[in-house]
Amino acid sequence: MKVIDPHIHMISRTTDDYLQMAVSGIHTVTEPAFWAGFDRSSANSFHDYFRQLTVEEPARAARFGILHFCWIGLNSKEAEDLGLAEEILGIIPRYLDRPKALGLGEIGLNKNSRNEIKVLEAQLALAAQRNELILIHTPHLEDKLKGTRIIMDMIRSEPRIDPSRVLIDHAEEHTIGEIKDRGFWYGLTLYPHSKGSPERAADAVEIHGSERVCINSSADWSVSDPLATLKTANEMRRRGHAEALIEKVFYENPKAFLSQCPKFETR
Ligand SMILES: [Zn+2]
Repeated sequence: MKVIDPHIHMISRTTDDYLQMAVSGIHTVTEPAFWAGFDRSSANSFHDYFRQLTVEEPARAARFGILHFCWIGLNSKEAEDLGLAEEILGIIPRYLDRPKALGLGEIGLNKNSRNEIKVLEAQLALAAQRNELILIHTPHLEDKLKGTRIIMDMIRSEPRIDPSRVLIDHAEEHTIGEIKDRGFWYGLTLYPHSKGSPERAADAVEIHGSERVCINSSADWSVSDPLATLKTANEMRRRGHAEALIEKVFYENPKAFLSQCPKFETR
């Protein structure tokens, strides 16, 4: 089967991972800009990171026959320093212009703090002004629902942003319904040790249907699994779901969402 992983941090993964993904059917990935596991010390670090995402990593992926696209943005974990944030916001447009950049992401909230909200607001305005796709990170903490609601209210108060061009990621059972009701796409993230098992993701598709959902591994520098999408597809197969439904969830859906950016292509 063919799979698109719309959220995976390949700069943290090995060439063995790329090979495993390629031979398993994951031929297209998109990588959001995010926290590197430590706070970066200057705008120059972001310059290097954005260059890695837009130039170096697509070239590394291509050696394994994998198409690699990215998202550019300032993540919420590094949004507390408003001075640095302003500098980063100033350099984001030139990286969004690059051929592999699909839009703003992953932007959103982490602790729902005042500064995070300010930086998110500025990035939503930029996305609206440039008509960019948006990939949203929602808090992993206990206030996921609160953070998701704040983010959705902020987006809906910006009339230039069409919710069907926004993917709200790391959704869980208690947030999926509201995200869908308000017209957004939602993302389910698979984490090996905590939440988001293949079983839970398969349950969510059974309960909420296969419309406007994208499933991703979000594999990064921490404990994670770049083949998690395939394992979830397998769980759906084990439960007796039709191949056409599985292909819709893991290939046609991400293709439909991502193709709203004309730079996107897939194999
Ligand atoms: Zn991520």
